[in-house]
Amino acid sequence: SKPIVAIVGRPNVGKSTLFNAIAGSRISIVKDTPGVTRDRIYADAEWVNKNFTMIDTGGIEPDSADILLSQMREQAQIAIDTADVIVFITDVRQGVTDADLKVADMLRRSHKPVLLVVNKVDSFEKFMPDVYEFYNLGIGEPIPVSGASKLGLGDLLDEVVKNF
Ligand code: GDP
Ligand code: MG
Repeated sequence: SKPIVAIVGRPNVGKSTLFNAIAGSRISIVKDTPGVTRDRIYADAEWVNKNFTMIDTGGIEPDSADILLSQMREQAQIAIDTADVIVFITDVRQGVTDADLKVADMLRRSHKPVLLVVNKVDSFEKFMPDVYEFYNLGIGEPIPVSGASKLGLGDLLDEVVKNF
């Protein structure tokens, strides 16, 4: 079967926007219990003749830092258990957060291929200086993208398919 690419990251970093930009219209929703993190959205995608399945593991908006963290740990664990490549999305406007650091630790220890994406880089000229901070997560070179403006998606997908 096709390689699985899981998208993880905090709420509002732009996971679904990026997922939709890459997937286009080939999206199907697989629901578990309504409203829980385990709801996953799948799409078939293709890049340079390589086919893969993408999963958006986004959950509901949490109302406390504790719930956020437990939800993100669960989301990261699903990705570690099921994915061939994990795409970890962060937000250049928010910078590196405590939750980002904790999830990055978890992903690093999994020894799965992880790509670190810094999203909302709508202007490379304006935001690139803020991207370098994300090296502090210790999971490699940050890949700047803008899901909303569809910038950097080709470079990201090149990195994704290198792992198949
Ligand atoms: P998710 O919760 O991680 O799935 O994030 P969403 O895809 O729902 O996006 C959260 C918010 O960020 C929405 O208001 C989006 O319009 C906005 N957003 C997503 N991607 C970008 C981007 O590349 N640039 C900017 N400026 N905003 C974005
Ligand atoms: Mg979402």
